[in-house]
Amino acid sequence: GAMRQLPYFCRGEVVKGFGRGSKELGIPTANFSEQVVESFPSDIPTGIYYGWACVGNGDVHKMVLSIGWNPFYKNIKKSVETHIIHTFKEDFYGEILSIVITGYIRPEKNFDSIDALILAIQEDIEEAKRQLDLPEHLKLKEDNFFHQPEGKIVNSR
Ligand code: ADP
Ligand code: MG
Repeated sequence: GAMRQLPYFCRGEVVKGFGRGSKELGIPTANFSEQVVESFPSDIPTGIYYGWACVGNGDVHKMVLSIGWNPFYKNIKKSVETHIIHTFKEDFYGEILSIVITGYIRPEKNFDSIDALILAIQEDIEEAKRQLDLPEHLKLKEDNFFHQPEGKIVNSR
C-alpha cells in the first residue's frame, strides 16, 4: 500500500512542467525532472500525499504532492508535483527541491469541473495542514535531511 514506503525522502531539480495551468488555478506545482521521478519506487501508488518541502537551503514548509500519470508521455510515465503551502516572491525553476513525504491522502480522481477540482485540492491542503501538525509528522520537519549544505543527493535516506 501507500504507507509502506513512507516517510520517503527525495531531492532534485525543479523543471518546467507541461503547462496544465496549475499556477492559473492558484496552486502552482513544482515538477521534478524525469530522472528523479524514475528513481521513485515503481510500486508507490499514484495519488495525493503530504509532507515537508524546502527550496535550496530555504525554510521548510508544509506541502501537498501529487504522484500521477504524465499526460506529456501519454500516461506511460509518472509525474511528481509538489505544491508548497507558502507564498514565494519568485519562481524557482532550476533550484533543488528537497521533500519528505510523510502521509497519504487519497487516490487520483477525475473531476467534473474545474471548480470541483479546485475544491478538492483546497480540502487536500487543509487535510495536509492538520496532519502535519501531529507529532509523528511534525518531527520530520526537523530532520537532518533538510540541513545538508550540498543538496546534491537524490533519494538519500
Ligand atoms: P509548470 O507546469 O511549469 O510546473 P506551474 O503552473 O505548475 O507550472 O507552476 C510551477 C512553478 O511555480 C514552480 O516550478 C515554481 O517555480 C513556482 N512556484 C511558485 N510558488 C510555488 C509554490 N508555492 N509551490 C510550488 N511551486 C511554486
Ligand atoms: Mg507544475
